[in-house]
Amino acid sequence: MISLPSNTKFKVKIKTANFKIEFKDATREQAEKIVDGIVALFVEDKFVQESYDSIKGNNFGFCSISNSGNEFSVSAYLPEHVVNKEKTISCGSRISQGRATAGVNEDCWEQRGPNKCCSYCGSASFEDFMSIADKVIAGEKDYGIEKTDKGYKFYIQQPQVPNAGFGAIKFYTWHAPEGLSKEELKLINEKLHKAITITHEKFMKRLTKTINNET
Ligand SMILES: [Zn+2]
Repeated sequence: MISLPSNTKFKVKIKTANFKIEFKDATREQAEKIVDGIVALFVEDKFVQESYDSIKGNNFGFCSISNSGNEFSVSAYLPEHVVNKEKTISCGSRISQGRATAGVNEDCWEQRGPNKCCSYCGSASFEDFMSIADKVIAGEKDYGIEKTDKGYKFYIQQPQVPNAGFGAIKFYTWHAPEGLSKEELKLINEKLHKAITITHEKFMKRLTKTINNET
């Protein structure tokens, strides 16, 4: 079981043909009581009963099941993501989608868990991205950086950040500072290459371990 910050909140949303409920800002204990109560109440509801098996245990807070208009989800998150709504940036994603107004900043940096994240695309700030790369290289546990098939997108792994509700899980290159010199770019690329290689090696080690334990 992943260890979550003590102020983690849970949202329970259940929607079937018979009823619809939504609870926000519940503690884990409260959320479990709500889910258990619903499951005990609707014994005849096949969707509720079947979903429950997937939702409980380690998945609690990280599972959402939906089919034919039914939904059963329990999502964990940190409360009060936004501490600073001062609009100081225009996200590159907004600009490329043609949704930006010239000369107007429409986006801000939000504090989510340990990170500053773009309010528009969810990317980590460049400073946070670099400091996570440093932690990977320093061998700090549970930190990682992965390449994706999109050259402008990287995945980030951090302890206690199981989903985007707890902090940054990605970085988009349009949030890199402008006007970097060739030398600076070279150093950044080297650092990223190192962090990505280390992350991949850690992943392969874990995978090998899993395979050997299972066979
Ligand atoms: Zn953005």
